[in-house]
Formats: sequence, C-alpha cells, structure tokens
Amino acid sequence: MTMIAAATTKTETTEPILQLLETVSLYLHIPFCHTRCHYCDFNTYAGILPLREPYVRALLTEIGMAGTVAQLSDGKPRRSRTIFFGGGTPSLLSVSQISRILNACYTNFAVDKDAEITLEANPGTLSQEQLIGLRVAGINRLSMGAQSFDAELLKALGRIHSPKDITKAVHDARVAGFPSINVDFMFGLPGQTMSHWRETIDRALDLHIEHLSLYSLIIEEGTPFYTWTHEGRITPGDEDLCADMYEYADERLQEAGYKNYEISNWSLPGFQSRHNLTYWHNLPYFGMGAGAYSSFGGRRFSNVREPLEYIRLLDTRQWPEAESEIIDKQQAMSETAFLALRTAQGLHLPTFEQRFTLPFTAFVGDRLRVVEEAGLLEYERDWLRLSKRGRLLGNEVFLRLLPD
Ligand code: SF4
Repeated sequence: MTMIAAATTKTETTEPILQLLETVSLYLHIPFCHTRCHYCDFNTYAGILPLREPYVRALLTEIGMAGTVAQLSDGKPRRSRTIFFGGGTPSLLSVSQISRILNACYTNFAVDKDAEITLEANPGTLSQEQLIGLRVAGINRLSMGAQSFDAELLKALGRIHSPKDITKAVHDARVAGFPSINVDFMFGLPGQTMSHWRETIDRALDLHIEHLSLYSLIIEEGTPFYTWTHEGRITPGDEDLCADMYEYADERLQEAGYKNYEISNWSLPGFQSRHNLTYWHNLPYFGMGAGAYSSFGGRRFSNVREPLEYIRLLDTRQWPEAESEIIDKQQAMSETAFLALRTAQGLHLPTFEQRFTLPFTAFVGDRLRVVEEAGLLEYERDWLRLSKRGRLLGNEVFLRLLPD
C-alpha cells in the first residue's frame, strides 16, 4: 500500500494516502491583535478585543456546523489529526475560551488521541500562568512569531515584544511542559545586516527549540511597509542578501541537526509540523473563523472576512461562506505536485498515481523538460524533488505545473 510520511511530535509515522484523504485538519482563525505590525496583511484587527466572547460563541457554532458537513456517510464524526489556532494572536483569548473551542472540536470531530494541537502566540502577550493553563487544556505545540532578536528591528516592524520576551516565553513554555515549540524569524528586513541575522540565528539555536520557520519579508500592498517602500523611506533587503541569509541559516541549522523539510521550515527529527504538512500534502482541511480557507470535498472555500459580519451570520446559524471554487482533477494534480515539491522529501510518485489513478509522467507530459535540463529537479527512485539550485528557483518549476 502506498504511504506518505507524516510526523508526530515524537516519532515519524506513515499512513496510507487513501486513509489520510478521509481525515480533515482543523484550522481556527483568531483575528485579534493588540496593534497591527507594519508589514502584516493577514485578516486580523486591532481595537476589537471586546468582540472576543461573541466571536468565540460564533466559532463554537461554526465548529458544530462544520462537524455535520464533514460527517462520514454513516453519520460518524470525521477523524482529525491536527488542530491549529492561528491568527491574529490566539494567545489573546483566555484559557477557558481556548478550552471551550477545543471541546467543540472534540465533540464534533473524532480527534486523534495524539493529535498535534498548535497555538500561535505573540511572545509579548504570554504569562507563565496562561502557558500552564494552555498546556493543561491540551495544547501540545506552541508557535511564536519572534521575527528578530534585534530590538531596533522589532521596533521597526511594529512588534510589541522585546528580544528578552522571546527568551522568557520559550523558557516559560518549557516550564509549562510544552514538548514542541516553533519560533518564526524574518530576513530581508529594512536595515537588517548579515551580522543582525547571524546574531538572531545564533540566539535561536541557543534556545534548543524543535522547529524554526524562516521567512523573507514580502512587501504586501495595503500595509504601511508598502507605502514606505514606495515613498523611499525604507528599503527591504535585496535578492542577493536574502539568498545569502537563507544559505547562512540553512548551513548553521543543518550543522545543529535541523532538517530543512520545507523551503521555509527546519525541524529537529520527528518535530515537523503535521498541520502544515497537511497543506503541503494537499490533504483536506476545514478553516473556521473570519476569512478562514477550507479545502474539502473537492471544493476550496473561504469565510467572510469581517469579524462582525462573521458573528452576525453565525448568530442566526447561517453558513459564513463568502467564496467557493470547485477543484477539478487537473487542478488537484497540479496543486498536489507543486505543493509536494516545496518539501525536502518531494513528490512520491507512486502515491500520486494511487491518489489520481494516473501516473505522474502521464499528467505532466514534457512540461518539465526545460527545468529538468536546467538541473532544477532530481529524481531518486520513487521521488521527484527540487535540486539545491531548484530550491532557489522553485517558481520556475511550479509555474510549469499549473493547469493550462
Ligand atoms: S501579531 Fe502577527 S497577525 Fe498580528 S499584526 Fe502582527 S504579524 Fe499580523
């Protein structure tokens, strides 16, 4: 039987693809932040903290409705392997609100006993007491947006935390018993030098965390950073500097025992993010909350973005869907291929064939010949993956996999 690798917080496991396709990962969007960071274009809002309780009540209603939609044909709840509280800043909810949301997930889905349950947190909003409460409530993975160990850069990003808050939050999370911690950092920031970046990576390594996500800054339209870049007030790191920063981090992390299992993600063995692998393996997920995206039942759909509108709809038990798209087989094959190529493992060709009852070669024809000849791809037994050079030029490959 064809298997693809998935990771638990402790050990590597494998599960048959057809079994994984019957599961659903749960994403819960918590759209509150104390202030907006200058680069952020997520669906998140400052100044609406009083909406937290009505929003949680709306989310509980949606989880119940989603559980019914996702039910198996015999009426049993659908199995879920991962739950992810993302945002926004989920750590702005109280422990009791998080517990109620988790209970609704357990009631409406058949959540695995060893499910990976992640909560995103801002290091500036965490207390030791809250971390202990979250751990007791069942959160077993903490993901923190730290971004940099440089105080000036943090200020320039509009972050509310200090470098000290990062170290303290990791320490407190350990004391609270979190077995798996991720920290996000960013490179290519305006004013960020190689020496800033080295310092950040060195201090991140000192924390002995299980997982690191490293993202290059993307200037998104509608953000203060977009305006300031166009006014010439800030200059993000150029492509060459970003490539050097990426390579530096990759070398240092690999030396320290981390594996770059996806373009922007490194983990110690056995600590890959199972939830994010759901996306890269193109497996089903239900996103609940304002603006959340789902991929389920051959459709991709998203909720209304405005928290007040979301609450209003759920108050009267109306499905909060705003947009929807049918994913046909051709598109599903394209997406499965290019998402898998983002991972270090790459695309497992027998799994692809079993999933779509079509060999990958028949699907792709000669569309990849140019990038193969340019050395961007490599085949190894049953696997197709990006070469080292291909990882820097991944878009060249991904574009050729899109449907015509
Ligand atoms: S804390 Fe995160 S979600 Fe909130 S504004 Fe900053 S980057 Fe965006």
